[in-house]
Amino acid sequence: MSEISNQHKDVLAKLAAASKRGGMSTPADLVAVSKVQPDSRIAEMLEAGQRIYGENRVQEAQKRWDDTFAGHRSGLELHLIGPLQTNKAADAVALFDVIETVDREKLLKALVKAVGDDGQMPRLYVQVNTGEEPQKSGVLPAQLPAFLKVMRGTYNLEPEGLMCIPPADEAASPHFWLLSNLAKDNDVAKLSMGMSGDYEIAAEMGATSVRVGSALFGARHYA
Ligand SMILES: *Cc1c(COP(=O)(O)O)cnc(C)c1O
Repeated sequence: MSEISNQHKDVLAKLAAASKRGGMSTPADLVAVSKVQPDSRIAEMLEAGQRIYGENRVQEAQKRWDDTFAGHRSGLELHLIGPLQTNKAADAVALFDVIETVDREKLLKALVKAVGDDGQMPRLYVQVNTGEEPQKSGVLPAQLPAFLKVMRGTYNLEPEGLMCIPPADEAASPHFWLLSNLAKDNDVAKLSMGMSGDYEIAAEMGATSVRVGSALFGARHYA
């Protein structure tokens, strides 16, 4: 059995146990973050049976999933977890099943235009900048109710969930707690939170999906 397959099994087992400890009736979904990973590791992950993948960049994702692994696309679910520029909205709508990084009205407008009259809108998550970091995208917590009002009222779009990326140098759990409370207060069903270093904590705190890269595939090597 391959190392990737073992890591996959290990993460799934830890995730299921953590969701159970958190009182969840089903384990959080595992989004395997495939950005930057070499084709050989992706092929092993597909072989291991992993079906949900997360990508940061539209162009990189198109190359991987519309080209290299086009033959494996059926039954897969692709999530965009990186920032989306409005000029890439049409490409993102065509490729992704879920867009987790909705964070401004201009993007809502571009997505609606990209879908047109008979296209399929991907499932949408609103990214929340829980750490209020100036360099990070996401709606500020205080502005979330107003943003959701516009999303639901003006654009007739219902968010499936909220997503956050806690500051790298802080404990993640206060951010997960905040996101969970924002979801409850605003009637949003799902929570995308937790990465390689803290997905078990996130699952214990009610994550419905976690985004795990290096713990599944090994370290990323940027060129
Ligand atoms: C890269 C990335 C991840 C995965 O990070 P790991 O630490 O490798 O698990 C998760 N979420 C987002 C938004 C990312 O950009």
